[in-house]
This record gives sequence, C-alpha cells and structure tokens, in this order.
Amino acid sequence: MRTEYYHDTSEEIAFAAALLRNGELVAFPTETVYGLGADARREESVRAVFAAKGRPADNPLIVHIAEIGQLYEIASEVPDIALRLAKAFWPGPLTMVLPKQDCIPEVTSGGLDTVGIRMPSHPTARALIKESGCPIAAPSANRSGKPSPTTAKHVMDDMEGRISAVLDGGQCSVGVESTVICFDDAETIHILRPGLISAEDLAPFAANVYVDPAVFSQVAADARVSSPGMKYKHYAPNARILPVDAPDFRTFSDYVSKHAVYGTYCLLFDADPEIPGIPSLRYGDNGAQRAHDLFLRFRELDEAGAKLVYVRMPRQDGAALSVYNRLMRAAGFEAVRL
Ligand code: AMP
Ligand code: MG
Repeated sequence: MRTEYYHDTSEEIAFAAALLRNGELVAFPTETVYGLGADARREESVRAVFAAKGRPADNPLIVHIAEIGQLYEIASEVPDIALRLAKAFWPGPLTMVLPKQDCIPEVTSGGLDTVGIRMPSHPTARALIKESGCPIAAPSANRSGKPSPTTAKHVMDDMEGRISAVLDGGQCSVGVESTVICFDDAETIHILRPGLISAEDLAPFAANVYVDPAVFSQVAADARVSSPGMKYKHYAPNARILPVDAPDFRTFSDYVSKHAVYGTYCLLFDADPEIPGIPSLRYGDNGAQRAHDLFLRFRELDEAGAKLVYVRMPRQDGAALSVYNRLMRAAGFEAVRL
C-alpha cells in the first residue's frame, strides 16, 4: 500500500477526511502524540487499526470528537462531573471513560461496555474530525510496543506502507499521551493513565482523586485491571532503559561511570554537566519539557545505536508523573535506587 503524505492545508485535510469517510486509516497530529485514526463506528476499519499497529485486541481505542455535543453520541451516560471536566479541560489532553452508546462497536472498546472519549486541541486534528463528520478512534500511531510518535516522520518510520495517509502537523506540543480517567462514583476521579493534566489540576473538581497503583508498579499479565493498556510493556526503545534514582548528579555520575559498558548512554537533565567518556542526551528542566522530549529522545537513542541508557529519574508529582510512568514502563518497572 502507498502511504500518502499530506500537509496541513485545508485542501489536504479534506483529502484525509475523505479517506476516513471511506473507511481508510489516516495518521494525524494531536497535541499529545500522533494518532492512527479510523471511523470509530466501523468494525472493519477499527480492526485494520489493530492490525496495522500489531495491537492486542483487548486494548481499547480512544474516540476523538470535535465538539462537546458529540459526547452524547458516543457516551450513553454523561455524569455532571464529566460535563464540568469537559467544559474545563476540552479541547485538551484529557480522556474520560464513560458507558458507551451502541454505535461504538466492541472492537473499538476492546470488548468493554465503556469507551474513552477525548476532544483534542490541535487545530489540524479538530479540522480533520469536523471535516470527516466521523467520531475518530485513534490509538498512538506507532507499532505496538514502540515509543509513541511525536512527528510525522516517526509515523512514517513505523507505518509507511501499512496505512492510507499521514497528515503532517509538525511536532506535537505535549509529547506524552492524554491523561485517562474514569469515575468510581459521582465524587471520585480515578486516574488510569497520567498525562499533562495532573491529579493536582483535577483536584478542584472532585472530593477524591485516586491514582491507580498500576501507574507506579508492574501489573501481572493475567491481572484484572481497570484499564487494559496498563498490562502491556510499552513505549520502549530497542535500547535497555534503566532509570536511576539518585539524590544528586554526583551520585548518579559515579554510579554510571562505574557500570558503563559498550553502548552505554545517559539521559540527563538540562542542568547536568557531562559525564566524561559517556555520550548523553538531555530531556529538559521540568515535567512539561521532559514530557515533550521523552519519546523523541527514545527514538534518537535507537538511531544512535544505544544499548543501555541510564536515565536521571524524574519527579512523581504534577505533569512529571506522566514522564515517570512512561519511563518506568519502558524499563519494565526496574530501576536503580541509590
Ligand atoms: P493509546 O490508544 O495508545 O493512547 O491507549 C489508550 C489507552 O486508554 C488504553 O491503553 C487504555 O488503557 C485506556 N482506555 C481506553 N479506553 C478505555 C476504557 N474503556 N476503559 C479503560 N481504559 C481505557
Ligand atoms: Mg499507545
């Protein structure tokens, strides 16, 4: 299959929208990462998304909409708290899991009777969804297990020849996937996957905000989990990722210097000095910058031929929790604690 490469002009967005209406697969930019889109209501199109990614069938897709009104076409119940959050955070990187309408087939929801819904803020994504007239089911546009793509080139690297088109909307501004939440009751927000919108951001909207334990530790492959995506190792580059929790740079660099082997790299904070003899990349000064850079650096480390990467451990609060979670999942939840 030839993969068309479209730019984000209104004419080419219209071509991409026509492909989606025709049941085909189009990768498109969102503010989080690039998504691999298909009409969420068409079983055979959604099956093709799973096939193109090599994604396990029980890992549900998020349905993307362009206006709040579409929420009621996708969700069969919209509690007050969900509407308040939609008004506060949409368009933006927040996905809410709600009971699904019958128009969303179980292939889309991974066999569940709920569905994740989000309204992205990226203007190209919104234009595409509007123009297509479809709710768009879209997981990240990487091959399953690879780091999520944050540029159209990453998408082409993984998906060329497997999908009908890629729409290039530049580099994603957020860089990690959306915050996914469900509601345990009318007063409780349950964070299934951390993102740029943090527990602290959500706290004013509910009596309780609960972060799922699977954000911090490995879930057994056969465990029952609130969110199927939690079970899968994810986001990993080919290199082995080893986060190192050190009280300061000196302790980190002493450890790394002692343990470095052929092909060792470091992923450092911007303010860190070099470690003599060990090549390094950097991933920012704060949670939002690290979220923006993390998947990009993973792909660069693979291109550089890194075998083992010692990573400075990010914090676990605010937006940084999303970085901590992606990093620990890439490491299979193994880390060095000094
Ligand atoms: P991705 O498409 O790679 O961004 O992954 C979407 C993630 O959202 C999945 O891996 C799930 O963990 C989560 N998710 C989507 N829909 C649901 C749902 N109905 N219930 C629980 N989690 C969901
Ligand atoms: Mg993904």
